Amino acid sequence: MALKKAENKYDYAVAVIGGGPAGIMAAIQASSPEHGQGACPERSRRVVLLEKNSSPAKKLLLTGGGRCNLANAEYNLRELVKNYNNGEFLFHAFSVFGPKETINFFEELGVKIKTENPSTGSGQANRVFPASNDAKEVLEALKKYLEKNKVTVLFNSEVVDVKKVGKKISKLILANPSTGSGRASEIIARKYILCAGGKSHPVTGSDGFGYKFAEKLGHTIIKPMPALSPILVKEAWARNLQGISLEDVKINVLQNNKKIISEEGEFLFTHVGISGPVILNISATVGELLEKGAVKISFDLFPLLNHEQLLKGFEYVLKQHNNKTAKNILTSFVPERLAEVLLDISGLDKNSIANNLSKINREKLIKILKNFEVTAEEVLGFNTAMTTRGGISLKEINHKTMRSKIIDNLFFAGEIIDVDGKSGGFNLQMCWTTGRLAGGSCK
Ligand SMILES: Cc1cc2nc3c(=O)[nH]c(=O)nc-3n(C[C@H](O)[C@H](O)[C@H](O)COP(=O)(O)OP(=O)(O)OC[C@H]3O[C@@H](n4cnc5c(N)ncnc54)[C@H](O)[C@@H]3O)c2cc1C
Repeated sequence: MALKKAENKYDYAVAVIGGGPAGIMAAIQASSPEHGQGACPERSRRVVLLEKNSSPAKKLLLTGGGRCNLANAEYNLRELVKNYNNGEFLFHAFSVFGPKETINFFEELGVKIKTENPSTGSGQANRVFPASNDAKEVLEALKKYLEKNKVTVLFNSEVVDVKKVGKKISKLILANPSTGSGRASEIIARKYILCAGGKSHPVTGSDGFGYKFAEKLGHTIIKPMPALSPILVKEAWARNLQGISLEDVKINVLQNNKKIISEEGEFLFTHVGISGPVILNISATVGELLEKGAVKISFDLFPLLNHEQLLKGFEYVLKQHNNKTAKNILTSFVPERLAEVLLDISGLDKNSIANNLSKINREKLIKILKNFEVTAEEVLGFNTAMTTRGGISLKEINHKTMRSKIIDNLFFAGEIIDVDGKSGGFNLQMCWTTGRLAGGSCK
């Protein structure tokens, strides 16, 4: 894709703001012919993609640790929408272009696809990746498609302002750093698609500009908060457990002793606190709750066993090793460093012989395996977050077209709207889907 300098002023059919996954998909769809016979040059020449960086989709290259978890193969759309905050808004969009269509789309572009952990029922099931495990392959395929459709891609083209006349955008104002003069150039299009991202990982280009743009045009912005981000906790012992990961843990988020949400999945202690998919998935809600008061997070390390079943298991191990210490016995259930901490929290001596533990103390140990708590202190900010909760109010967007209900020639796609997904490919899925819908609605 040739790097082009922004022209001073130009008329286009469609101008797409932001060259991330949502913007690229929107530009591809806006420039594709209705009946899939190859690009229609006349129409496509008139789609422009404006990207402020010198290359497209910087964030896409970071996804899935560079492997690009590009979708989630949950084909039941009722189940799919449960993986999003405000997911119902996407139901129609997914029925037009959902995970199946996304996988077909990439395979037709020549990207071989694989699905990891199909149907395990865990939160990390059905994650879709390129078989090459390489996000670059996904981006290269998209770039080729943009070229094939003759989309004009303008890099180093930062939109800094927007003008409107009545209920329509009349033009975009670009900063033009390549001239060094600070001179602005203008872009005029019949329709505009705003795909400038949210506020997560601003180093990749998404610094919240899109919200200001939409606000200026009369849109309401639901307060953006970091989502899919690790959580700092008060307890110093949690940080000492850095590196310990546990599978299939159940987490309850509590405020004023009331359970607010639950989540199950993989969990990780880190140098700052707690992380792993199960924590990332609750992080935005924890952030919202922290604005109102204290938040506790409780852990059930054996959600598939009830108290009696776990006690039975404990007694069984005890019988086999009746001279071992409480710590040794507990180590059959959890990693050693965690066993020490749990004994500490229970107020039990780790060196006491397990067989000598009173019934009350055995019960205590089982209780702690099913329910120990940490105190959430802070959700790490936008520099760490993988996505944004909040954004353009869904009340002001038509869910069938992604068109603004306030500005007649404006459409939205991607992270900028007030929908965010769990970890597992749901966020990119939302970008492809809304990009496709917005681009298609611009024809
Ligand atoms: C580390 C990390 C890992 C992730 N892993 C996954 C994963 O495996 N699976 C998954 O589903 N999701 C993942 N995500 C989330 C996913 O990357 C985002 O949901 C997705 O990139 C959002 O796409 P977008 O196009 O809406 O916005 P962005 O990707 O943020 O793109 C917006 C683009 O707009 C440009 N822009 C902004 N302002 C302007 C302006 N004024 N003028 C011109 N251009 C502008 C930006 O430079 C940027 O290129 C991950 C995120 C991170 C940070």
